[in-house]
Parts: sequence; C-alpha cells; structure tokens
Amino acid sequence: MKAAMLQDANRVEICDLPNPIATQADEVVADVQYVGICKTDEQLTREGQMKGVVLGHEVVCQLPEQVGYFALNNELSCGVCSYCREGVTSHCTELRELGVNEHGGYAEQICVPQSSLYKFEFQNPLLGVLVEPISCAVRGIERILSALKLLPVSSPNVLVIGGGMSGTLISYLLAQSPQFDGSLFLHDISTAELAWTKQVAIERLAEPLQDHAHLVVECSGSVAGLATAMRVVRRAGMVCVYGVPEADCPLPIAAHDLFMREITVLTSFAGATVQTMQQAIAYISKDESFFEGLLGRQISLQELPEQLIHWGPLPGTRTVVMLEEG
Ligand SMILES: [Zn+2]
Ligand SMILES: [Zn+2]
Repeated sequence: MKAAMLQDANRVEICDLPNPIATQADEVVADVQYVGICKTDEQLTREGQMKGVVLGHEVVCQLPEQVGYFALNNELSCGVCSYCREGVTSHCTELRELGVNEHGGYAEQICVPQSSLYKFEFQNPLLGVLVEPISCAVRGIERILSALKLLPVSSPNVLVIGGGMSGTLISYLLAQSPQFDGSLFLHDISTAELAWTKQVAIERLAEPLQDHAHLVVECSGSVAGLATAMRVVRRAGMVCVYGVPEADCPLPIAAHDLFMREITVLTSFAGATVQTMQQAIAYISKDESFFEGLLGRQISLQELPEQLIHWGPLPGTRTVVMLEEG
C-alpha cells in the first residue's frame, strides 16, 4: 500500500509498505478515506524524532464488510494502569498513539482495534476528520469550565490567542456552553479574514488589551503567544495552555511574578475518551453547516509531504488528505 512516512526532520516520503495484518482478536484492517492535517503533524515533521513512522491521527475510515464511516480515536491505552483506572487514559503508562509514535492514517490502510472506531452519520463524511480535534477541545472546555470558579467574576472576559483550528473549536464550544456567561475576544497575529468568527459571538482584537482578560486561552502553540498570554492576563486571572508549546519553550514568566499576580496556569493535554469522542460527534451532527465552513483544501497523498513541510492551510480551516479511490 502507499503510505507517507516520516524519514527525518522535514523529510516525508511516499513509499510502498506491506498491507497491515490484524494479529489481535479485536483488531480490524480499515480502509483510510480522509485524514485531517494537524499542526501537530507539522511539528512532528519539523522535529523528525519519529523516524520510520506514518503520521496522521485525524482519520476517517471504512471497514470492508460494513457500510458507513468511522472516526478513529488514535490513542490506544492499556485500560489497567493507575491512570487508565482514573479515566485519564491520555496519561496511560503504556500509551500508543497512532499517527504519532505508531503508524497512523497517512496510508491506504490502517490496523486498529474495532473499539477505537466511532461510527458517525453526517451528511458530509469529510466532517469526520474533525471528530478527533473536537474531542480534544471537549476535554479542554471541561477543564476550563471546572476552573472558572477560581476567577473573581462570574462573567469573565476571555481572550483566545490564535484563530487556527484549536482557537476556533475552543471559542465555538465555549460560546455554546450553557455554563459559560462571559465575553469572548480573539487575537490572531495574522490579519487574514476568519470566516468562522462571523458565526460565533466573538470580538476580534488587533492587539490584546492589557489587564482586560480574566482568562486567556493560548491556542497558537507559539512562544510569542504564550508570552502574550502571561503578559496581558489580569491579576488573579488564569492562563490555559491549550496549543501544544514548542518542546524547548520554558514558561515565560518568573515564579515570583506568577505568585504576586496570583495567576492560575491550567493546561489541557489533548486527549480523547469514549465520552469526548461521542460528544464531538453530537456537536457536528447538530451544526454540520458551521463545521463544513472549517473544511479547507482537499489534497492527495502525493501532495502531503509538501504540505507538512510548508505548513499553510487556508486561514481557520483544516486541509484534508483524500485517500479514497476516484
Ligand atoms: Zn490533531
Ligand atoms: Zn493504561
């Protein structure tokens, strides 16, 4: 089968791999249809640590004997370690992440446990590539909502930094949440128009305001974004680190400053569970037209290496690799 393999830093090659074979009782070999290209793929490609791995974790596939489409939960946890027993399966001591440290979806076929596949019935099956990123955002929002009571006000100003897919989903889910009664603001370093902002009650700020936001959600994953978050957040406020920080980026604030300004730092290490996957599917089913607006370019597997090395989705959208024949 054709697959895109990470060979080294900034080197991804299309190669011929043997078709996967199911070896465990619960495993199935699925035909990959669509895969979303995530910023994490770009980071993994740039770093080049995972040599010999097929990336791609936002996967929609079909099964040979079954009708319909399935979204993949790419995190395979052991189910028995202390973290799994507490339900934080993303911290499983035996965690296998398909498309990160094991072969993922940038291939014609993928071997997965049947229990990791979630059937969905959207009018547009391409929307299935958003299930995994929305699932991660569902977890992020749960953590944010449960931490809101630490803020001094019940209607906080919330600044989202970064209008890419993470910032989009966090803003949308927060705006949708009945437990959230604040005001949303967005800062993105680009001035490109972001179509989704017209459908979410969010005000775009060219420059973030100092001492304005009670909560800043950093979604850009950039060093500058995190520094901005720490600089502008109000005293007794909170910063949620949602975008994956660069591996060598220290927290850009002195411990003394953090203490004196009484800033809470919250993180959400993206993770998908049965519950968050099902919620993600429900969100898309309820509002397909909004999510369709987040689908960007469609490319072939052959075009993927170029996209991973020169990251550049249409602003505020997901680029999708199409593997289905014809
Ligand atoms: Zn992703
Ligand atoms: Zn475990």
